[in-house]
Amino acid sequence: MNVVIVGAQWGDEGKGKVVDLYSAKASVIVRYQGGNNAGHTLVVGGKKTVLHLIPSGVLHAGKRCMIANGVVFDPAVFFEEVESLAESGVFKGAPSDVIWVSERAHVILPYHRLLDKLREEHAAKSKGKIGTTVRGIGPAYEDKVARRGIQVIDLIRPELLKTKLIRALEEKNILLKHLFGAEAVDFEPVYKECLRLGEKLKPYIRDVRADLTAALKNKEKILFEGAQGTLLDVDHGTYPFVTSSSTVSGGAMTGTGLGPSAISEVIGITKAYTTRVGTGPFPTEIEVTEKETAEKIRAIGAEYGATTGRPRRVGWLDLVALKYAVEVNGMTGLALMKSDVLCDFKELRLCVAYDLDGKRLNSLPSSGEDLERVKPVYETVKGWGAFPAAGITKLSELPQDFIDYIKKIEAFVGVSVVLISSGPGREQTLELKQVW
Ligand code: GDP
Repeated sequence: MNVVIVGAQWGDEGKGKVVDLYSAKASVIVRYQGGNNAGHTLVVGGKKTVLHLIPSGVLHAGKRCMIANGVVFDPAVFFEEVESLAESGVFKGAPSDVIWVSERAHVILPYHRLLDKLREEHAAKSKGKIGTTVRGIGPAYEDKVARRGIQVIDLIRPELLKTKLIRALEEKNILLKHLFGAEAVDFEPVYKECLRLGEKLKPYIRDVRADLTAALKNKEKILFEGAQGTLLDVDHGTYPFVTSSSTVSGGAMTGTGLGPSAISEVIGITKAYTTRVGTGPFPTEIEVTEKETAEKIRAIGAEYGATTGRPRRVGWLDLVALKYAVEVNGMTGLALMKSDVLCDFKELRLCVAYDLDGKRLNSLPSSGEDLERVKPVYETVKGWGAFPAAGITKLSELPQDFIDYIKKIEAFVGVSVVLISSGPGREQTLELKQVW
């Protein structure tokens, strides 16, 4: 029994909390896509740790955390996180006993970060900014697909690394100098730094695919930790305002090298409302139409990015988009997060269709331009009032109006809510179905 956790919206749904809960029961927790553009805030022994790259399962003793082939890997960020975790006393033995990095993961290099930043600045002039986290994720994935990427294993093969880096820089420097008017990147310091980090990384580097296959054979429980969200998927999201990887459950297969038969549950994480960071279509956004409500939700829900600190755009729950996410992920259940944030509202809205130029749409249009123009068709529902101070922990504590809200969601999207989260704490959770 292995479980994939995916974001059902545009990311920031609260995956970190569910990963933390499910990790307690898993043996192996694996990141399969994205890079250090994810962000989970965790508090251990009173010390706050923000993990962007290492699976948050690392906080549970005795778990193995893997960074698989499909991740783009920034070694400098990795060591910052390892050191911060070590200071918190997380590791009983060597960190490399519990954190393994795939030989095949692609490496984020300084020129990827630089290009990411310059591209966003350049695009901002023509309003084409994507709103990336400027951590070099997109440019690293571009190099991977263009077959000029540098993989983790190359960091410990000095001659091969030299050849690959020279080839990569030749092209990058033309772009940097002539398209963006920036300084060229010198080979020598980048090469030296890669070798230094490669040497330090040696104990962590493994054939993670083979390790996962062995875990599967041993019937160990594997938790696939998705990052970002379905609507940011490069194939299925609101292109081009997407991330550069496969955030949907299929990405867990391509990103690890295990087959679909390894998966028994796909749990989609959704908030009781919707947020989005960065630019791009967002049909139920209420920043202009219901400004005060948006501000209130943002304030109560602390809707500011864990990675960038940017205020998140806020809107009502979009059932059309959620149903789409259920379909493209083959979800078997939903975790409904942050329902406590809506406690103060007398009325809530659920988007049940879109209107495009007077035509009713019941599914997500393929064109991002169309999605930008649709008007949401809402159903207004009653709010549910206050929750118990400690959050919802028992079925008997669920207000009837909240049960009705959940039933509407389930009927529309076709899967059941398996977990209700009513606060950031572990205990502020009601598991309606145990996935393990
Ligand atoms: P992720 O990237 O999907 O893990 O989401 P983030 O970590 O960016 O956002 C989740 C934030 O919401 C974290 O600060 C959590 O502590 C918090 N959170 C998670 N679940 C709940 C909930 O049910 N209620 C409230 N109020 N906060 C929650």
